[in-house]
Amino acid sequence: MDCLDPRLLRPPLREGFCAAAARVSSVPIARYQELPLGVPVNAQSLVYPLKSIPSPGETIEVAPGVQWLRMPLPMALNHINVWAIEDGASWTVVDTGMHTPDTVAAWQSAFPGPLGGRPVGRVICTHMHPDHVGMSGWLTRRFDCPLWMTRLEYVTCRMLIADTGREAPADALRFYRAAGWDEQAIEDYKRRFGGFGRRVHALPDSFHRVSDGDEIKIGGRRWRAVIGSGHSPEHLCLHCPELSLLISGDQVLPRITSNVSVFPTEPDADPLADWLASIDSIRQRVPDDVLVLPSHNEPFRGLHARLSQLDTGHMEVLDRLLEALATPKRAIDVFEVMFRRRVGPGLLIFATGESLAHLSHLVHRGRVTRQLDAEGVAWYRAIGCSRPIHP
Ligand SMILES: [Zn+2]
Repeated sequence: MDCLDPRLLRPPLREGFCAAAARVSSVPIARYQELPLGVPVNAQSLVYPLKSIPSPGETIEVAPGVQWLRMPLPMALNHINVWAIEDGASWTVVDTGMHTPDTVAAWQSAFPGPLGGRPVGRVICTHMHPDHVGMSGWLTRRFDCPLWMTRLEYVTCRMLIADTGREAPADALRFYRAAGWDEQAIEDYKRRFGGFGRRVHALPDSFHRVSDGDEIKIGGRRWRAVIGSGHSPEHLCLHCPELSLLISGDQVLPRITSNVSVFPTEPDADPLADWLASIDSIRQRVPDDVLVLPSHNEPFRGLHARLSQLDTGHMEVLDRLLEALATPKRAIDVFEVMFRRRVGPGLLIFATGESLAHLSHLVHRGRVTRQLDAEGVAWYRAIGCSRPIHP
């Protein structure tokens, strides 16, 4: 497939666990979706140097000793990129794919084929979403090797998997009623609750902690851990200065925007502040000339340009919201302003989460008030002048 396949340039209405943040267990697999925030993709500023894409079970070498594999996903966003890095006599695998029969088959053909029959010596997961972590237990048990991950991602993953089989909690129902959901939407949520764990193979029962700034030696080269937050709680990126590579996970994606959402587990969170701070941090810590290896779409150059586009996109959304909140609105009332399109039931959870992330950020910045009415529904209103967030 050509890297500039026009199908990939459509507005990024997509499905995928990369769209999911900290509380996703309420939605079945087919409903993980992301809405376009109007973040521009300037084709001039990003360069996609690789001219082909690996089929399931195949690999493409993107740098010496670094192999690109693509695992299928059963949704509109139909793939995740994973990476196999030569590490002495074995492979260090970064991200694993979702636990589905197709992904099992892709790994089973990759090992005796392009991966040359070498074992996996270590699995590293960038974050806890099922398309990244789903096969980690399958791989670590098959090869009797450890899982490396940040602590918050591992622990949060265990928490979300534990929701499978439970009833939707009252806290979550209160949270979505406050956002303005009607009873039909609440009933749908109850029915779907607990879906997260169904696409994750039994997680390894222990892990090796990776912390920000750690240097991980893989195949004699040093990879530095660069942690981000906002899309997931403690997302790991790996920067190898010697190879000039950044494995960016879902922290930086070239053609689609990562979901940044508030979820019922932490209703007062401000994940957008974390996300914007992470953009700044990555810009300062990782040079612009790296080849970025993202979890979705294709490897690209233009890291700093993409970070600026993401930053600007969120600021513009905040400005549009401030203008709209001259009159009080609920979270479900700002979808048109946020996404510039109608939101159907299948998109409701992520549209709500992403809207709340932006509304909560304005509340945290003192630009908007939040008031509960007698029914427990939250109404947001801009305070005072309409000075823009984004000058
Ligand atoms: Zn993700």
